[in-house]
Amino acid sequence: MHFRVLHNSRPVLHIASFLLSSPSVDTLPLRMGKVIAVVNQKGGVGKTTTAINLSAALALEGLTCLLVDCDPQANSSGGFGIARDENRNSTYDILTGNATVAESTLATEIDTLKIVPGSNHLIGATVELIQVERREYRLRQALEPVRNQYNFIILDCPPALDLLTLNALVAADRLLVPMQAEYFALEGISELLTTLGRIQAAFNPTLDIEGVILTMYDERTNLAQQVTENLRKFFGAKLLKTAIPRNIRLAEAPSYGKPVALYDPRSRGAESYRELAEEILARNHIDSPKALERKAALQAQSRQETKVRFWPYA
Ligand code: ATP
Ligand code: MG
Repeated sequence: MHFRVLHNSRPVLHIASFLLSSPSVDTLPLRMGKVIAVVNQKGGVGKTTTAINLSAALALEGLTCLLVDCDPQANSSGGFGIARDENRNSTYDILTGNATVAESTLATEIDTLKIVPGSNHLIGATVELIQVERREYRLRQALEPVRNQYNFIILDCPPALDLLTLNALVAADRLLVPMQAEYFALEGISELLTTLGRIQAAFNPTLDIEGVILTMYDERTNLAQQVTENLRKFFGAKLLKTAIPRNIRLAEAPSYGKPVALYDPRSRGAESYRELAEEILARNHIDSPKALERKAALQAQSRQETKVRFWPYA
């Protein structure tokens, strides 16, 4: 079976081999806030579901996280039960300089996770900023003072390569690209990779891809397996090992205003986002506070067992 998009994508492959050839070991200092933009200009691929549930999974591992909803649809905010309120500070106010990030941050049910809500005012931001100098740096500059307060800052992008997404790409250290394993999966990816190249050249030379994550995955279908094989050839190690299955709990959770980890922690959806968080932490050589606690508990237990075993001879 031939994949039309892959077959005719020599320029894409060329760009990709250049962009994907950076070393796999991350050189950023661990303690510094790592900014990850969840991006794909294709609509409905699981960006918001990933932004919500990855932030929650990282925060439940004891890491401090800030989720910034950069989408006028404000679905990340809704997913945390934050009702629309056009009078409240939002990402719009940050971009237009009306408010700081600290003044716009809201708490969530998870202590270590905060959120800057989106708002449909963001639709106007693109036009309002058109005359503003260095308009692509607005979010990066706004995040600067809080960067070191968080282990991770996750940006949920709208389905467009507009000024909002551009601000996210300029602010980000890494991109996380959700993709569905379908026939036209790579459609639009050349445009995204070209944009990444331009951002690297003009604004943010260290920007790179953290990973490509398969979403709504059904491993039982031949198509999903074939597309995955092709994506693996295309993206190499950037294609993450974790794949997020299609899981009804993930689709239901936002209507309860909760990430899946709180709505149904034992569901496959919750499990898969925990795995994604673990994979990203492992790739970044980060031991989460919870992982350190688990390690210490195991060591204490094995010391205890050793004591018991040798006690009669001591
Ligand atoms: P947009 O481009 O509009 O911002 P998006 O890329 O953010 O969309 P989501 O909103 O996360 O995509 O997901 C689109 C729809 O698919 C939503 O209804 C969501 O609940 C559902 N969905 C996402 N991931 C899964 C999954 N793994 N299993 C089941 N449903 C899912
Ligand atoms: Mg979305």
